[in-house]
Amino acid sequence: MFSYGRQHITAEDIDAVVEVLSSSYLTQGPATERFESALASYCGASYCASVNSATSALHLACLALGVGPGDYVWTSPISFVASANCALYCGASIDFVDINENTYNLCPDRLEEKLSIAKANGKLPKVVIPVHFGGLPCDLKKIRELADSYGFHIIEDAAHGIGASYFNSKIGDCRYSDITVFSFHPVKVITSAEGGAITTTSEKLFKKVLELRSHGITRDPGKLIHDASPWYYEQQNLGFNYRMSDIHAALGESQLKRLDSYVNSRNELANLYNAQFDSSVISTQFVDTGYKSAYHLFSIKLTTIPDKRKYVFQKLKEAGVGVNVHYIPIHLQPYFRKLGFKKGDFPVAEAYYNSCITLPLHPQLSKEDQSRVCRYLKDAINEAAL
Ligand SMILES: *Cc1c(COP(=O)(O)O)cnc(C)c1O
Repeated sequence: MFSYGRQHITAEDIDAVVEVLSSSYLTQGPATERFESALASYCGASYCASVNSATSALHLACLALGVGPGDYVWTSPISFVASANCALYCGASIDFVDINENTYNLCPDRLEEKLSIAKANGKLPKVVIPVHFGGLPCDLKKIRELADSYGFHIIEDAAHGIGASYFNSKIGDCRYSDITVFSFHPVKVITSAEGGAITTTSEKLFKKVLELRSHGITRDPGKLIHDASPWYYEQQNLGFNYRMSDIHAALGESQLKRLDSYVNSRNELANLYNAQFDSSVISTQFVDTGYKSAYHLFSIKLTTIPDKRKYVFQKLKEAGVGVNVHYIPIHLQPYFRKLGFKKGDFPVAEAYYNSCITLPLHPQLSKEDQSRVCRYLKDAINEAAL
């Protein structure tokens, strides 16, 4: 079975983790700090805070930006549910912006339209969360311009996007956003088993995230209200235990060293896929000049036979190809339908969902295996068209 994605663990990774196990720190300690500073410098961000998942990172990013009851947060319907849940954790309302049919990312034109309507209704979003779907950066300049004219904050959900770049700007440098969020779940581009991080250029947001990831407790002498004894600390806000452990950070730090080579192999494999497809039957994510995708996912659309997607999916599964579908539109999940969303709300996302299949793509996929995947796919499409 060729899975759609899988982790790659080397002897160096294992050594790095074992080293932590025999040190005096297991939870947040020196390995966490090293991982954070390596990530910040890789991305070119001023600050990085690690956490135990991207879900936690999204939650803290929203809280740090002051999201609460009465606020609106907008994201893409073609994403993992965590991109939307973070708003709900804060008591805010969630809404979606339909995707662009070629990039599968939140569409800046639809965002602009929706903003002008929201302005007239007095329901402008506090935060917009563009998701770099499959590792392809969103049109960040355009979204930044809209943020400046409509006054919202930007959290980049870069769970797929570590190692990607946008006009020579690394995803995570936050040149166009307030905060960027990464995931190190095993299926993502690099892993720490479970884990996530935020990067930012704002010291204020960074400090807020640090406080909230550890119970809302501060030991900063300048911030203490009632005492300054050497043992003293204060819980000043309601925080969480969202810390990353040193065991996880050591794995993440070790993996980060191979990030560029992973992203390059993923790009190479993606180019090979594109070269083998008949573009009149299969369309793939459009990568414009200036954009470099991290290619966390390789999702195709069966443009001419969307009604045969299930058949093709099943055939590939039977042939041992670990296909998948990314994603079921978030607004069609039962939980979100209960909030009032329904079929037809985001037609481009729904049409994409109805025709998409994720093919295997990871640095361990050999070119021979990839050619086999292409052959099985072609056969399945031909049979489906009969
Ligand atoms: C995986 C993923 C997340 C959540 O990541 P975790 O680290 O598993 O919490 C959030 N957003 C997107 C787009 C994802 O793919």
